[in-house]
Formats: sequence, structure tokens, C-alpha cells
Amino acid sequence: MSTLEIRDLHVAVGDKEILRGVNLNISSNETHAIMGPNGSGKSTLAYAIAGHPKYTVTSGAVLLDGEDLLAMSVDERARAGLFLAMQYPVEVPGVSVSNFLRSAVTAVRGEAPKLREFAKDLKNGMDALSIDPAFAQRNTNEGFSGGEKKRHEILQLELLKPKIAVLDETDSGLDVDALRVVSEGINRFRASGDTGVLLITHYTRILRYVKPDFVHVFAGGRVVEEGGPELADKLEAEGYESYVKASA
Ligand code: ADP
Ligand code: MG
Ligand code: MG
Repeated sequence: MSTLEIRDLHVAVGDKEILRGVNLNISSNETHAIMGPNGSGKSTLAYAIAGHPKYTVTSGAVLLDGEDLLAMSVDERARAGLFLAMQYPVEVPGVSVSNFLRSAVTAVRGEAPKLREFAKDLKNGMDALSIDPAFAQRNTNEGFSGGEKKRHEILQLELLKPKIAVLDETDSGLDVDALRVVSEGINRFRASGDTGVLLITHYTRILRYVKPDFVHVFAGGRVVEEGGPELADKLEAEGYESYVKASA
């Protein structure tokens, strides 16, 4: 079992403090949802965990199995079993999806997968996500539709098999069919072993397909309420307004 531990995390962009003391523990057999209004700092949390240089950790700690995650390089974080899917993934012109994924698997495992084995895993993953085979030869993230970006994200999960996956707005911009395919992919990943998921979302609808064990409400750069899956139903009915007021 693995645990991602976020302790009293404060994060600034420039001299603006955005995260104001976030505490969260995610174990590898749990699914957590972070829900909150736009601008509450959800993506900032994901970027800080990912080590994005624009997001400065001013105090607090992030530990993966007791090791200081913030002291690790981005590659080391991936090798330690952390996967981060960004709300706005970067384009990698000139690198095909297939090569990008093989490099990612190589980086995480520390050795290149056998070509034939990788080709088989890639094909199975793409089939399961209803991805057209031609997709593997496209430039990574270049001109991807919302749905293609998200399927690509879940394909990475299936191939990389991280211990803890952080998914930021994986549900945004998906029509109902794509949402179902992506949710099924997340559920397959959850069922595939001892894996933890931190699902960051503004909307409650993905939580109808991917049932969280814990729900954390984010407002004003911190967790303002926590509960079980029933909290998502409450948010769907009542919205975030009361939390936004209370955190202001
Ligand atoms: P969410 O993902 O919950 O919508 P964000 O983490 O994207 O929220 O943003 C939280 C706050 O931090 C917002 O006020 C946003 O404008 C600010 N912020 C986030 N990233 C940056 C950045 N790179 N530069 C300037 N401000 C930022
Ligand atoms: Mg826990
Ligand atoms: Mg966001």
C-alpha cells in the first residue's frame, strides 16, 4: 500500500497565496474527490504536487510513502508511483502518441518495455477506450479534442499503472458517451490493483460513474468540508455558494 500525505500545504504564485493550509491523506486503495468552485485552487494543488515551477510551496509538506515528494524531480515522482494528469496538457510536436507513451513507460520502469509487449498493451488499452488505431501516430496532444485528451490520459493510467493518480478535471468537456468510456477506464484502473485516485472536479456528474470513498470540498484554497459520497449529492443539490461565502 502507498500513501500520499499532504500536510498543511501553502502554495503561492508570485506573491499571491493561493493554497492556505491543505491537509489530505490518500491511500492506494481509496478514491478521493476534491470538489470546489472555479478559482478555489484545485488545479494549483495538482500543479504543486506535480512540481510545476510557477507554483511555490511556501510551507507544509507532501510525502509519498514517507518520502519528501517536493524534493524529488518530476521523473522521480513518476518513478515513485505518482501520476498526474493536467487540466491543460502540453503539446509535444514531432513526438507520436505511441513514442510518447513508450518513453513514459520506460521512464517509470527504468527500462524500455519490449516492443511487441508494448504494442500489445497499447492496442488493448486503446481498444478498451474506443480509440481509433490511427491515434497512436498523431503528435502528442496536438489538436486533440477534449475527449481525445481525456482518453489519452486514461490510456496513460492503464499503461503506467501508478500507485496514486491525480486527475484534474478529467470530466470537463466530455459528452455523455465519452464520460462513460473515461469513467469505465478509471474504474478498470481502480480495480486493477492497489491503486489510489484523487479526482479533482468542479462537477458532480462523473461521481455517478466513479464512486468516491471520500469527498473534500475546496474553497478559498483549503478544504472546508469532508464527508463520504453523500456529500457529492448535497453539492449537486445545493451548489458551492454557502462554502464560498464562509471561506471569504
Ligand atoms: P481551480 O482549479 O479551482 O479553478 P486554480 O488553482 O486554477 O483554481 O486557481 C486558483 C487561483 O489562483 C485563481 O485565482 C487563479 O487566478 C490563481 N492562479 C492559478 N494559477 C495561476 C498562475 N499561473 N498565475 C496567476 N494566477 C494563478
Ligand atoms: Mg486515508
Ligand atoms: Mg482547475
